[in-house]
Amino acid sequence: MSRNRQQAKALAVHGIVQGVGFRPFVYGLARRFGLRGEVSNTGDGVQIYVEGEGPDIADFCQALAETPPPLARITRIRERHARVRGLDRFTIVPSQEGAVSTLISPDVCVCQACLAELFDPKDRRYRYPFINCTNCGPRYTIIEGIPYDRPKTSMKGFAMCPDCAAEYHDPGDRRFHAQPNACPVCGPQVLLRDGQGEQVKCADPIARAGELLRSGHILAVKGLGGFHLAADAKHPEAVARLRQRKGREEKPFALMSPHMAAIRGYARVSEPERRLLDSPQRPIVLLEKKGAHGIAPQVAPNNRYFGVMLPYTPLHYLLIAGFVALVMTSANKSQEPIVIDNADGFSRLADIADFFLIHNRDIHQRCDDSIARHLAGANRILRRSRGYVPAPIFLKQDGPSVLACGGMLKNTVCLTRKDQAFLSQHIGDLDNYPAYQGFEGAIAHLKRILQIEPMIIAHDLHPDYPSTRYALNQDPLPCIGVQHHHAHILSCMAEHGIDGPVIGLAFDGTGYGTDGAIWGGEVLIAEETGFERKAHLRYTPMPGGEAAIQGPWRMGMSYLYQGFGADFVNMDIKLVKGRSEQEKTVLLKMLEKGLNTPLTSSLGRLFDGVAAILGIRETVSFEGQAAMELEMRADLSQSEIYPYSWSGHAPYIIETTPLIQGVVRDMQNRLSVAAISSRFHHSLSALFADLCARIAGETGLNRVVLSGGVFQNALLLTCLSQALTARGLRVFGHCQIPCNDGGICLGQAVAALARSPHP
Ligand code: ZN
Ligand code: ZN
Ligand code: FE
Repeated sequence: MSRNRQQAKALAVHGIVQGVGFRPFVYGLARRFGLRGEVSNTGDGVQIYVEGEGPDIADFCQALAETPPPLARITRIRERHARVRGLDRFTIVPSQEGAVSTLISPDVCVCQACLAELFDPKDRRYRYPFINCTNCGPRYTIIEGIPYDRPKTSMKGFAMCPDCAAEYHDPGDRRFHAQPNACPVCGPQVLLRDGQGEQVKCADPIARAGELLRSGHILAVKGLGGFHLAADAKHPEAVARLRQRKGREEKPFALMSPHMAAIRGYARVSEPERRLLDSPQRPIVLLEKKGAHGIAPQVAPNNRYFGVMLPYTPLHYLLIAGFVALVMTSANKSQEPIVIDNADGFSRLADIADFFLIHNRDIHQRCDDSIARHLAGANRILRRSRGYVPAPIFLKQDGPSVLACGGMLKNTVCLTRKDQAFLSQHIGDLDNYPAYQGFEGAIAHLKRILQIEPMIIAHDLHPDYPSTRYALNQDPLPCIGVQHHHAHILSCMAEHGIDGPVIGLAFDGTGYGTDGAIWGGEVLIAEETGFERKAHLRYTPMPGGEAAIQGPWRMGMSYLYQGFGADFVNMDIKLVKGRSEQEKTVLLKMLEKGLNTPLTSSLGRLFDGVAAILGIRETVSFEGQAAMELEMRADLSQSEIYPYSWSGHAPYIIETTPLIQGVVRDMQNRLSVAAISSRFHHSLSALFADLCARIAGETGLNRVVLSGGVFQNALLLTCLSQALTARGLRVFGHCQIPCNDGGICLGQAVAALARSPHP
């Protein structure tokens, strides 16, 4: 080889390139093309220096860009010519501290190669529940700081044994520089404890845990991003006991099944749903129940769907062998954050779990399971957490770093760096102190691992949200308040990369309006810098305020009062007859005098009210329950629609009374609840499609953006999208980002960037 034709190049690679086997990949590539040089992690990504023959360097660069490792995501490669240093081989150099703007990988499910070893009796990691490699395993949940190296993860306390160390240092090995590399000799261990905290003596704690589940016990199982509460899903008493101990809530429990064949026994799985279940993010996927499914009825009462996931850690694979399905529900009390810590688990779950299957690898960041579904031709993420966080959403805007604090329910926060938006994992409802601590903790953690110091804070307009108060306390940073529904629409525009103005339909339960009323059935002309409220549902009183959210019967009566006047108290409807004279008198007085009756234009409340009028549900145990059950009852064959109207000129006031009168008339004609629910959904679709067509005609806009928690309603999303498309409008619904309040922080960030003085 003639040394005089030698050339050299330096490359800086940006994107998700740390913790995904990128340096070993570069090493292998350099050897393949006979190049010498070095590769290192920097705070900025990965830095490569190569020297060798020109054509080999060119081939190397092409392969680097075109065939990166499965988990890597390259956003940019900067190449420049360099001086030939005359090195004699290619090496991986230790990480450098420095200005950090790299991307951290989300957690990834165990890979096929590791699974094969897990179940191979001859492998040294046979049945070892923490097996992993550079292509799989924990990432975000164990990272304490960056650069991503073992001493900055919760693996720092486990010194590798000689065998593991040999793999770690062997460039030809699948575990070369795999930071969480471990084995039964040197790595974390599982332990089974009983309800008193005593260790259960047994040869194989996971096998013993399986036996306990089979005999109807409830187990707390420490996982990747937190604890689960587990029970055999085919054991009705066990599931009923779990529900009762968790506080009688009626929210559906998630299921985990060992493989696709087991899932197909109790739920329908389409090809796109199969791919979603099987994706490395392993979300909980909503699947339609089969008729005779054999799963305990308490798993998902009054629901057409099961939430199902495949195992994603080796521990899950070992535990679930032989079961059709396990209930795997987040281990928390009511709305508090999911438990991640062993000691905390014993104290907070002592009265729920009979046994604890725990381990000694700490969970540094709490991360709930993500929830997704395939609907109307696209995958739609309803809760974006484990497996997706902290991968960025790329924005069209660039600007100073923003911290957007989100809302109150299903809170998430967002930090931006240039054109990248990083959404946090699901934090939950901020109405309890542990959740608020989780909120502060998530902000601090994201700031640290992403090395972002925000210049601007964005928040909801609601003055009493804990997230708003946090924002206003961040002196001296400028704060930008963003209207809730404006943020919803912007979040959907951002994920699709579209600019305003658009017609935005923001449908949800609650959001603070600029007039102090509670909005939620809004048609906005929205752009990044602001919005015009073009139409909304007629304001309806919420008798008792917050109490009307927990008690949809109050909303039912409020709509009846609006539709029929005070005489409604004599109507022959179960909702009215079932309430005491005193309740009716008090409610009527509130409505007539306007006492403690805040006004709302919320579509979520209209769904609640109709569910109550139809006798489906008068009180709820979780947000959206009545609306969800109304949807589940719909019989899709009925597509007749009720009369509808809106009054005046813009802002158009949409009348709810014709809809309510139509519903009541059908009830009096003894039409089934299923038929009425279907007509109600179709009526709303026709109404809003006609209204959008009218606004499109006036404004020349033809793009309609759908956002807000009401769009978790599959029937409404499907019907309305079809109705809009039929009128020649282009429809944009949420896919990567939740349509509910788990997505609004992204919209807040976009609004803040648009309104910030420095472009
Ligand atoms: Zn692996
Ligand atoms: Zn080892
Ligand atoms: Fe909302």
